[in-house]
Amino acid sequence: MRINDNFEKLPESYLFSEVARKLAAYKSEHLGADVIRMDIGDVTLPIAPCVIEAMHRAVNDMAGSDTFHGYGPEQGYLSLREAIAVVDYRKRGIDIDADDIFISDGAKCDLGNLGDIYSSDSIVALADPGYPVYVDTTVMSGRAGEMLPDGHWSNIVYLDCNAGNGFKPAVPETHADVIILCSPSNPTGAVMTREELENWVDYALREKALIIFDSAYEAFVRNPELPRSIYEIKDADKVAIEVRSFSKTAGFTGLRCGYTVVPKTLFGADSEGRQVSLHKLWNRRQSTKFNGASYIVQRGAEALYTPEGRESVARHIDYYLENARTIRGCMQQAGYTVFGGDDSPYVWVRGKNGETSWELFRIMLEKYNISSTPGVGFGSQGEGYIRLTGFNSRENTIRAMDRIK
Ligand SMILES: *Cc1c(COP(=O)(O)O)cnc(C)c1O
Repeated sequence: MRINDNFEKLPESYLFSEVARKLAAYKSEHLGADVIRMDIGDVTLPIAPCVIEAMHRAVNDMAGSDTFHGYGPEQGYLSLREAIAVVDYRKRGIDIDADDIFISDGAKCDLGNLGDIYSSDSIVALADPGYPVYVDTTVMSGRAGEMLPDGHWSNIVYLDCNAGNGFKPAVPETHADVIILCSPSNPTGAVMTREELENWVDYALREKALIIFDSAYEAFVRNPELPRSIYEIKDADKVAIEVRSFSKTAGFTGLRCGYTVVPKTLFGADSEGRQVSLHKLWNRRQSTKFNGASYIVQRGAEALYTPEGRESVARHIDYYLENARTIRGCMQQAGYTVFGGDDSPYVWVRGKNGETSWELFRIMLEKYNISSTPGVGFGSQGEGYIRLTGFNSRENTIRAMDRIK
C-alpha cells in the first residue's frame, strides 16, 4: 500500500517538545530551581461536585438492567442538546435548535473532522499566529499545497495578525472557501468585535465561503459588548459552523466533551452547482464515523446547565481570568507590551528589546524561573512574542509575577 504522502510534508511539531526539553535541561543544570509553569495550556481546577455526582449516578445507571445505556444517538442525547440550545443560545436571543447541535468528544476532533464535508480543493484561510491544529489538519487533507522556503504553505491564505490590527484577522483581498476563526484567540487572547465578525459574515456571503468559528474560550468573554457566538451576527447561520468545548470552561480536558453547531440554514454547492445542506452532510459523516460521546460524560456535561453547574463554571472562569489579569497588569507595569488577558486566559507578551520568541523564552526562564511558550511556534507572525497563561494556581501566578516586579 501507499501512505498518505501529506503526512511526510508535515514538519515535526517542535514547539511543546522543545519547550519541555529546554525546561528539563535547565532544571538538570540548576538543581532545585523552582520553575513556575506559565506555559500551561491545560486547566488545573478539578471538576465541579455537581458534575461528579451526575457522573456517579450515570455509572450506577450502567449497572442496572433497566437503566443501562448502550449505543446512544450519534448526535448526542437530546436532553443535553436541549440544555445547550436553551442556555447557551436561546436565552441569549440566538435562534439555535437542539437539532442543530452535535455533541462531540471534544472540539479538536471536530475541527479536524469537518474537513470531511468540504471539497478537497478548497482554499483554506487561517490566522497567523493560530492554534496549530488548523494548519496541520489542512496539510494532512492535502489542501495546503507545498511548503514554501519561508515555511508557509502554497495553498493556504494566511490572515496576518499583528500589533497593528490588534491580532485580529481581517478579511483578505483574495478568495477563500473555508475560513477558520478563533475568538477569543489561542494564543494571542484577542477577541473579535461584533463589527469585525460582521465583516467576516459579509465576506463569506459574498464569496460563498464557510466560516468555522472556534469559540472554545467563549465563556471567558465578560465584556457584554463582545460577541460570544458568531450567531449573534445577522445571517451567520447561513455561513458559519460553531465549534465549542467543555474543556476550558468546565475542566473537561480529560473527560472529553464538546459540541458543534451546524444550522439547517447552512448550504454548500456540489460540483453541479446544486445546493446541499451541510447539516445533512455532517449528520451523515458523524453517523458513519462516530458512535456518540460517552453516556456518563454527557450526563456530567448536562449537570453544567443546572444552576449549581453554571455557578461552578462562572467560578472557574473567574479564577483563571483573575490570574490572567494579574499577569497582564504585572507585565505591563514591568514595561512589556501586552495583548490579551481580558476576556481570555491568554496573555501575549512582546520583548522589550526586539528579542526573538526563543530569546524571550530563555530570559524568562533564566532570569525569573518562569516557563512560557514561544509565540513563533504558533506561526511566523508570532515571532518576538511569548504566550503566558492564567491556568496555573492563584498562588503560583502571584509568586511568578512577584519575581517580575
Ligand atoms: C483547547 C482548545 C480547543 C478544545 O479542544 P478539546 O479537544 O475540546 O479539548 C479547541 N480550540 C482551541 C483553540 C483550544 O485552545
